[in-house]
Amino acid sequence: MDFELTAEQRMLKELCRDFARREIAPYADEWFDAEYFPVEVFRKLADLKLMGLLIPEEYGGTDAGTVAMVAALEELGKVDQSIATTLQAHLTIGSLPFLHFGTEEQKQKWLVPLARGERLGAFGLTEPQAGSDAANIQTTARLEGDYWVIHGTKCFISNAGTPLSYGLVALTTTGKGEDGKKRYSAFIIPKGTPGYTIGKPYKKIGWHMVDTREQVFDNVRVPRDHLLGQEGTGLRAFLQTLECGRISVATLGLSLAEACLEMALQYASVRKTFGKPLTSHQAIQFKLADMATQTEMARLMVYRAAWLRDQGRPYAKEAAMAKLAASEIAVRAAEEAVQIHGGYGYTREYPVSRFYLDSKILTIGEGTSEVQRMVIARQLGC
Ligand SMILES: Cc1cc2nc3c(=O)[nH]c(=O)nc-3n(C[C@H](O)[C@H](O)[C@H](O)COP(=O)(O)OP(=O)(O)OC[C@H]3O[C@@H](n4cnc5c(N)ncnc54)[C@H](O)[C@@H]3O)c2cc1C
Repeated sequence: MDFELTAEQRMLKELCRDFARREIAPYADEWFDAEYFPVEVFRKLADLKLMGLLIPEEYGGTDAGTVAMVAALEELGKVDQSIATTLQAHLTIGSLPFLHFGTEEQKQKWLVPLARGERLGAFGLTEPQAGSDAANIQTTARLEGDYWVIHGTKCFISNAGTPLSYGLVALTTTGKGEDGKKRYSAFIIPKGTPGYTIGKPYKKIGWHMVDTREQVFDNVRVPRDHLLGQEGTGLRAFLQTLECGRISVATLGLSLAEACLEMALQYASVRKTFGKPLTSHQAIQFKLADMATQTEMARLMVYRAAWLRDQGRPYAKEAAMAKLAASEIAVRAAEEAVQIHGGYGYTREYPVSRFYLDSKILTIGEGTSEVQRMVIARQLGC
């Protein structure tokens, strides 16, 4: 077993650590409070060639691999979760459908600008009445001559409404098969297509710099070549794409837990009560010890799932386990970190409060904890 990163992976991690400290840390709280999407950060990440980590060089990426992506996101997520989230959604669910299911022409036209960071990727699955129950989506697409006509509404879609967005890939139903079962297909829907309306950003508990909006398709017409993959294979493609997304969301959990541990430890070593630092009280020591132990569990699970993917081995169960464990560990770590900060932790004066607000979504987005348990149970043969 080799627990060491390669020299290239270490360099990438250091690059991201340095970038996050210089370009994000000084502004993160201000941007969070202003609910500002810092487009300039993503332009700089593109200059550093960080927007195509999973995409082969022939399509504009760096093909750095999943472990490298985890190492990069870990450093960004320790400083700010919104920016790490926007990037992880772009790298995985926003870009991979083109790589895995696109034609050569679609890869050249849509994937290359994504991998170069000229555009931001978005994944349109969730609808007002269909989140966990993805098969229940109601958005329809029907073929009329040379065009597909798309009608329906997606909700909670991240990355589709920014100045860097091209639009999104949306899952629709395309009628029923001879067996009477619904057929699903994925479509590329570019911004500016008549009938496609992007809603206002949601007001969210956390992830304030993440651009998340409703997307409405009112008989939107897209040419036949905007069908991504084969007609009838869309649901499978979307669910398969989410497997890698779980590794990147799990990395957000790992990085949040690490940040909370670091902040709690720092605060506890300077804050004195009853004449001694908090770190001298055994109850606080135990909290910190538990946080450190659980963070290490998350680290091992996340990196192992990423490593399995890089080896070309099955990783769906490990990715779901990593997402489940790391997100729940993150929520607990954030709660304990605020507790250790006492009243100060409850104010926006301390960044720990930002991580606390950012933590809860991790057990919901890209499959809730309950859905991860369903995926794991299915993998166990239940
Ligand atoms: C900030 C944010 C960003 C997002 N970004 C995107 C995005 O970019 N693209 C996208 O497509 N979606 C996105 N989502 C949507 C997200 O993936 C869904 O919210 C999530 O999958 C849950 O779906 P739901 O909200 O419909 O909850 P529901 O499916 O209605 O679930 C409600 C609750 O019931 C539980 N539950 C449901 N079914 C069962 C069951 N059978 N057994 C036990 N418990 C069950 C769930 O776990 C949950 O706790 C985003 C959401 C948010 C909040």
